[in-house]
Amino acid sequence: MDITRREFLGGTVVSGLGASALGFDVVRARMVKQRLRIEGATVSHSVCPYCAVGCALLAYTRKTGDGKVELLQIEGNPDSPVNEGRLCPKGATALQLAVSSRRVTSPRYRAAGASEWKDVSWDFALDKLAQNIKASRDRTFVATDAGGNTVNRCEGIAFAGGAAFSSEEGYFATKVMRGLGLIHLEQQARV
Ligand code: SF4
Repeated sequence: MDITRREFLGGTVVSGLGASALGFDVVRARMVKQRLRIEGATVSHSVCPYCAVGCALLAYTRKTGDGKVELLQIEGNPDSPVNEGRLCPKGATALQLAVSSRRVTSPRYRAAGASEWKDVSWDFALDKLAQNIKASRDRTFVATDAGGNTVNRCEGIAFAGGAAFSSEEGYFATKVMRGLGLIHLEQQARV
């Protein structure tokens, strides 16, 4: 069957062909479209947590029969002036942060000299963090500088905020760290 370019672009021939001589099956294509995985899903807005570019994400979720929320898909938000729907390879795998079978789901600890990591509770991890922060701060706190000036600073700990911090989280983290006397503060968005 001969098809002119104009007929092809007009679609009249294509719609009449079904399992088409053009090499694709329009009927099947429509069926596939009707079974889109994200059809009817709830769309939530988020931001990629990986780097300082701050690409906007759309997350598609749906409630399952047993009341749980299933994450179906994460993709770039086309309305974002930052990424206009695009994601780099890292951001494009953001779904795996939630659903990967290799995802680490609890804090892990490797004791000094040990060769193996072990799963620990959040209480253990937070206690350990607090103890180490206190020990480092006590060891490296400088009350006065070489000129005798009062400085009250902790030189032995550095803090880096993440790109996914909200303004409030960044403000709060900075307050806590400054309260401990830290002077080495950085934010991933500036790196
Ligand atoms: S998608 Fe890529 S470029 Fe965008 S914020 Fe995530 S890691 Fe950065």
